[in-house]
Amino acid sequence: MIMETVVTVTKLKERLEELRKENKSIGFVPTMGALHQGHLSLIRASKKNNDITVCSIFVNPLQFNNQDDYSSYPVCPEKDIAFLNVTACDILFMPTREEIFPTENNEKFDFGDLGNKLEGAFRPGHFDGVAAVIKRLFEIVGNCRAYFGEKDYQQLLIIRKLTNMLNLPIEIIACPTLREVDGLAMSSRNQLLSEEERNIASKIYDIIYEASERSVSHTPAELKDWVNNQFKEYPIMKVEYFEITDAHTLQSIDNWQSDKEVVSCIAVKIGNVRLIDNIRFFSNFGLN
Ligand code: AMP
Repeated sequence: MIMETVVTVTKLKERLEELRKENKSIGFVPTMGALHQGHLSLIRASKKNNDITVCSIFVNPLQFNNQDDYSSYPVCPEKDIAFLNVTACDILFMPTREEIFPTENNEKFDFGDLGNKLEGAFRPGHFDGVAAVIKRLFEIVGNCRAYFGEKDYQQLLIIRKLTNMLNLPIEIIACPTLREVDGLAMSSRNQLLSEEERNIASKIYDIIYEASERSVSHTPAELKDWVNNQFKEYPIMKVEYFEITDAHTLQSIDNWQSDKEVVSCIAVKIGNVRLIDNIRFFSNFGLN
């Protein structure tokens, strides 16, 4: 099947209705474009388990709390379309802002503590914007499996919560983070880094990976200090946060408990580029 490109909500709904009449299952991969292999891994996961895969590309203005970040966000539709064709995506949904938000949208959501910490604390309003666009896209696409990357770990938890809160007929599937060969998590923002910044950016994963190994001999508080000290060697990187958290609630933890799943989350600014990453800690804790 040659990929169809759809730009209006009405057309996409009509097309999906036809496909559902033919009993086709739908997989959905929402993105903001500037696609890389991480995005394509979500498309591939969707293609494995669904008859039809829909990818959306929409740079959602509501989720940018910083106007410069929005203006500099990379946009490259021709390259994206070529990537999607190679991956044999079935439908590309590329709507305008007016199609997605025909009127001003100031919707607020209450995700409790989950929404207020980490990204929520450093990017006020970000998750309201994410939730508004995902709610709208889910309403348009309807019953489907929707694929999200663990790279944006807090966003994944927020979207699961949103789906439950609104009782939507959507199954959320989490996909692992794809990394460059030197460990840097793939991200559309990586292309905004200068060569020097890009080389140093790989230290983010080196440091959090080593931190995960050091959980055998360090308490969470000691690890946080260790990580913050490591970054002092690279003054062009500014750590916004590094937190060791319960993988379900994102509450910070202060001791290791073998029955707890732990994820550590980090946000780092390199020049004007803000990168996030996370890593799971496995329960090989040697202390308390
Ligand atoms: P974005 O275009 O940044 O909004 O991302 C669209 C989807 O791709 C989200 O579900 C992201 O979590 C996911 N994604 C982004 N980077 C990666 C990556 N390196 N590995 C896996 N998934 C990713």
